[in-house]
Amino acid sequence: MIIIPLGVSSATPTAVRHLPSVALWRDGSVFLFDCGENAQMRLLQAGVKRSKVEAIFISHLDGDHIFGLFGLLSTLQLQRREKELHIIGPKGLKKMIDSVFGVAEVELEFPIKYKELKSDLDHEVVMEGDEFYVEARPLKHTKFCIGYRFQEKDKPGKVDAAKAAEAGITDDTQFKALKNGEDVTLADGSTVHSADIVGDPRPGESFVYVTDTEFCENAIRLAENATILFHEATFGEPLKEKAEDTGHSSAQDAAIVAKTAKVERLVIGHFSARYSNQFLLLKEARGVFEKTWLAYELRPIFTNPEQEKEIISPRVEIIDLKDKRAQKSKKTFQPAPKRKGGFKKRRFKRKPANARYYKSDDSDKPPKTRYSKPYRRPDDNQSRPSPHRPSKPLPITPRTPFDDFDRF
Ligand SMILES: [Zn+2]
Repeated sequence: MIIIPLGVSSATPTAVRHLPSVALWRDGSVFLFDCGENAQMRLLQAGVKRSKVEAIFISHLDGDHIFGLFGLLSTLQLQRREKELHIIGPKGLKKMIDSVFGVAEVELEFPIKYKELKSDLDHEVVMEGDEFYVEARPLKHTKFCIGYRFQEKDKPGKVDAAKAAEAGITDDTQFKALKNGEDVTLADGSTVHSADIVGDPRPGESFVYVTDTEFCENAIRLAENATILFHEATFGEPLKEKAEDTGHSSAQDAAIVAKTAKVERLVIGHFSARYSNQFLLLKEARGVFEKTWLAYELRPIFTNPEQEKEIISPRVEIIDLKDKRAQKSKKTFQPAPKRKGGFKKRRFKRKPANARYYKSDDSDKPPKTRYSKPYRRPDDNQSRPSPHRPSKPLPITPRTPFDDFDRF
């Protein structure tokens, strides 16, 4: 799964941060969590097709989390969508959408399957597919707000091909039966047990979306052992009281939830516009839970980082600045040496008195100019190294102490 933050601002957008929305890409399908203004543009900029959106999960009915939905639905209508769209959120969501399009006298022509949750929600599976399900739980905000957990179902274990061949399994149907947990009887009457050939089932990955909430038990329940927890961190510790008054969390609250729930990775977002430097919040969170990342808009987060390294190969070489000997032994890219006496000004020579001009019919004598260069075949050029592309990668240093420079 790939998680792409589309907007990481809280109630008011800033010049560089958009309103809340997070896209989850899984196996070609897209699931949106909240839909702030500009969400559809951010999808485009992230290279995610809007037509691939299968379901939209809305946390609560505050404008900053939902006003992008009308624009997105309008675009899907113009794209002549035919596929059903799931919209899940608090009660009143359908009325809101119907009234906006009703006043605009627009009838949405593609089917929408609504799932509205009432404020007495305890916990509920709100969507289920063959390979995943989505669970909802109420959070603690100034109004009814929902947290979601997208959970992949466990995958069957891997078949040990060498062991299977040794046991005498040759047929594809026998392989499939073993993979499904069935024992196979061979022609000679011997039985091959599935448990001997197939490994343990592999646990599915999970993504938890918790935003606009104070520190609450349900956030921990939702996030238990999750692969990635996206949690709001609207304020820093000095504004903890303000966070409680407005139904929000501090960066430390988010980290405590992550630590208690034993998540693999915490990603914090939903930053108040007053923080131009989110690293303050990251520092606070990392004080409690080390495996915390900042949500960057349009920067994808892979639930399995190994997959990411396969897709993105490093273009720069990272050197250890403390290790002087290693640095010396490595040849780094050197800029071209400066010319002695600086660069000469180019001057045109005065035309000599005996200069002659060639007529067009003197084709065997081409005019000689100061700047004419010998003709070089394209093949020759290939062997010459380009001055713009050093053959050795450039070394880089981390930009900030919190930069995850081994990832992107
Ligand atoms: Zn919000």
